[in-house]
Amino acid sequence: MTAIDYDLEFLEDGRTIELISIGMVCDDGRHYYAVNRDMPVRKIRKNKWLMENVVPHLPKGQGDRRNHVPRSWLFDYADPVVKRRERIADEVMGFIRAAGPDIELWANYGAYDHVCLAQLWGRMIDLPEGVPMFTHDIQQERSRLGLSWDDLPQQEGGEHNALADARHNQTVRRWLAERAQK
Ligand SMILES: [Mg+2]
Repeated sequence: MTAIDYDLEFLEDGRTIELISIGMVCDDGRHYYAVNRDMPVRKIRKNKWLMENVVPHLPKGQGDRRNHVPRSWLFDYADPVVKRRERIADEVMGFIRAAGPDIELWANYGAYDHVCLAQLWGRMIDLPEGVPMFTHDIQQERSRLGLSWDDLPQQEGGEHNALADARHNQTVRRWLAERAQK
């Protein structure tokens, strides 16, 4: 079994879940991070929590470019991690399939993450072969082991950067796996 830990940042309004960014880390050492060029920027701008917690982590331009990215932009459209949603769908499918035939997806409070991930390819029935139909939840494993959230390793920084969150999920998931064996 090969595990892929992932995290998505998204806008959800009680009806829809729309991708902002995705981070994935695989047991085989690969990682993936992308920012959705097609994110609904107007709606995001009106969401105070996202503006304060998620948008600051999006690429803002490096070096000279930093001065050339208009302040009104939520992120630097020229950054290589910024991609069309369709391209992210293709690359994520490739990333997951490259992990082999026996894959587990893991996320933290991952129900919304799973739906947002699966909707990259459309309806439930459109899920590509090789992409698992469910995501294991760190919270379920924590509960099964009779642990509280405070018992778990704490994240040292970068919360709400999707890749940093995915890396922390990997740390916690591995820690739980060790506990489960004792
Ligand atoms: Mg996150």
